[in-house]
Amino acid sequence: MHYSIFSLARQALLGHRGWTAAWRDASPKSSYDVLVIGGGGHGLATAYYLARHFGIANIAVLEKGWIGSGNAGRNTTIIRSNYLLPGNNPFYEFSMQLWEGLEKDLNYNAMVSQRGVLNLFHSDAQRDAAARRGNAMRLHGVDAELLDRTAVRRMLPFLDFDNARFPIEGGLLQRRGGTARHDAVVWGYARAASDRGVDIVQNCEVTGMIREGDRVVGVETTRGTIRAPKVALAVAGNTSRLTAMAGLRMPLESHVLQAFVSEAIKPLIPGVVTFGAGHFYISQSDKGGLVFGGDIDGYNSYAQRGNLPTVEDVCESGMALMPMIGRLRMLRSWGGIMDMSMDGSPIIDHTPLDGLYLNAGWCYGGFKATPASGWCFAHLIARDEPHPVARAFRLDRFASGYLLDEKGQGAQPNLH
Ligand SMILES: Cc1cc2nc3c(=O)[nH]c(=O)nc-3n(C[C@H](O)[C@H](O)[C@H](O)COP(=O)(O)OP(=O)(O)OC[C@H]3O[C@@H](n4cnc5c(N)ncnc54)[C@H](O)[C@@H]3O)c2cc1C
Repeated sequence: MHYSIFSLARQALLGHRGWTAAWRDASPKSSYDVLVIGGGGHGLATAYYLARHFGIANIAVLEKGWIGSGNAGRNTTIIRSNYLLPGNNPFYEFSMQLWEGLEKDLNYNAMVSQRGVLNLFHSDAQRDAAARRGNAMRLHGVDAELLDRTAVRRMLPFLDFDNARFPIEGGLLQRRGGTARHDAVVWGYARAASDRGVDIVQNCEVTGMIREGDRVVGVETTRGTIRAPKVALAVAGNTSRLTAMAGLRMPLESHVLQAFVSEAIKPLIPGVVTFGAGHFYISQSDKGGLVFGGDIDGYNSYAQRGNLPTVEDVCESGMALMPMIGRLRMLRSWGGIMDMSMDGSPIIDHTPLDGLYLNAGWCYGGFKATPASGWCFAHLIARDEPHPVARAFRLDRFASGYLLDEKGQGAQPNLH
């Protein structure tokens, strides 16, 4: 069913009784051409682009819970392409361009809102780093503006500009950055993939990998054995668990990242703002709640819930940036499991096992990557060679030392 003003009007006249389910909740077959494990944004986008652009439609997406129950439905919805390194920059800009055409492509309202992302700086050294990043972005054709203190004050007068420890000196603005509605992205990809024949199989946990020598030829699931010549992992924080089933260890750690939303207030924050002197970022949802987050919890975990010290830490940073936030009540907080890589950058690559493909290491920045990640992973699976903008996301870089350390923090997941 095509969604349009005409279908809406037609359904209104019919009392809204004619809407059909957005996607088929399929039962698994015994074999497919491609199995995508993980019904988050990345897995569903991969299946969609495989069907749409690479002519492979005999695909199942296997999801252990319901689609979007992982990080795709838990993130703070920020999209941007303000990257510094040549290995990252073209990929994230490709993603941004896909976001810009996504709703038309999927025929689905993903609430893509390019309301701007502003990274604040608080010292001369940080200004230099922001200018360098902005210049690198512009050299790659990405929009970037360096704002001084007065321009930031005009935009966000309520921030604590004269904070004794962290005075605000300015910010790097990407106006094309912003937010998108995370659930809608999942539902939009699911609907578009299902329309092209992809089986979306929920409540189907992968419990084992079937190996024939050095080749993976299928999976064991809670709904039976399913075979396929190509098995693609897009399971975010559960990656190391899944690869362990095939006998592989990954250069990843799983950590919880929490997010928070306040009670709804009138429009206050025009875009996304990040604090440069602590890990804190904030935006405002269309419902009015302030959505914010900060650091990962400092220990490894597969539990989708966080701990109180991080709540305190995030709220402290929030108070340092905009003290008036202390007058608000917090409504909810939640956690998701991050697949933290050792250099903070992702992996889209073959594994050492034939037939097993890997999409992982997104840390807490994978939502913005969803469209490009899906496209590039589909390219790799279909053609067995990396997409030109994702060549740097190799698994063997952790052995060769050719790291993509965007933040220059080294192999410390807690700092990425
Ligand atoms: C609190 C929070 C805030 C974030 N904020 C941002 C942000 O603002 N911007 C940004 O770019 N990124 C952000 N991220 C990161 C982003 O959400 C993730 O990097 C991205 O969503 C990961 O890809 P995914 O959507 O495919 O993962 P997921 O949605 O986690 O998908 C993986 C799926 O695999 C399934 N699965 C796991 N094991 C199995 C199994 N054995 N069998 C079958 N299925 C399995 C899971 O149930 C899950 O649904 C944030 C994350 C969190 C938690």
